[in-house]
Amino acid sequence: MRLVLVGPPGAGKGTQAQFIAEHLSVPKISTGDIFRANVSQGTPLGLQAKAYMDRGDLVPDDVTIDMVRNRLAEDDARRGFLLDGFPRTVPQAEVLDDMLAALGVKLDVVLELVVEDDEVIRRLSGRRTCRTCNHIWHVDFDPPAVEGVCDLDRGELYQRDDDKPETIANRLKVYAEATSPLVNYYSGRGLLIGIDATGPVDDVTVRAIDALRPLQHGE
Ligand code: ADP
Ligand code: AMP
Repeated sequence: MRLVLVGPPGAGKGTQAQFIAEHLSVPKISTGDIFRANVSQGTPLGLQAKAYMDRGDLVPDDVTIDMVRNRLAEDDARRGFLLDGFPRTVPQAEVLDDMLAALGVKLDVVLELVVEDDEVIRRLSGRRTCRTCNHIWHVDFDPPAVEGVCDLDRGELYQRDDDKPETIANRLKVYAEATSPLVNYYSGRGLLIGIDATGPVDDVTVRAIDALRPLQHGE
């Protein structure tokens, strides 16, 4: 299955991507994770992306598109993928259509995680990420057993630089202006399924998997 997750920052895309990708046995491709790995390794791509990320702005389309084109060309993406955080603009979505057409394949579904702004702000303010395995926690809603330590691999948890209040505000504005038009773009193509992404993480996962089930059986 070829699937895209959309929704505002903090909607739970990274959290759900993990479970859904495992369920579908496809690789999870998170552009935010790839950018952050490049920033922490100090690669040329990371140096290019860092200033935009720190402000909560989008990295320019040409940089992002080249990165995704390379990732989708890898072997493990041939039989399906879950994209988390890409596309984030209509031009990115148009290029994705072209890339997939060149490979003779199409997107199967775009899953929108629907959450109000107030909830998104609560989620982003308490987000913590494992430095080694990237697992996502929340200080109140999904806390690890020991504060600051990942339950899965004992890695150190950190707060993302772009989860500061002023950057969160800019990211929500950027989402409204640049990314939310994707909802119309994909619903116009009959690809969009929206699910309520409020409530416990496990409940959202069940809603997501239920929504995808008919597609998995090719109905
Ligand atoms: P996104 O990838 O869309 O930016 P994340 O998956 O990183 O969002 O989630 C943002 C924060 O919200 C994280 O701290 C995560 O633990 C928390 N979170 C995710 N899903 C839920 C949920 N259903 N209820 C409460 N908190 C959640
Ligand atoms: P995320 O982890 O999805 O919240 O992304 C973190 C940051 O990475 C964003 O605020 C952007 O600066 C950058 N980024 C991630 N994906 C994209 C994309 N598709 N287009 C442009 N910038 C992106």
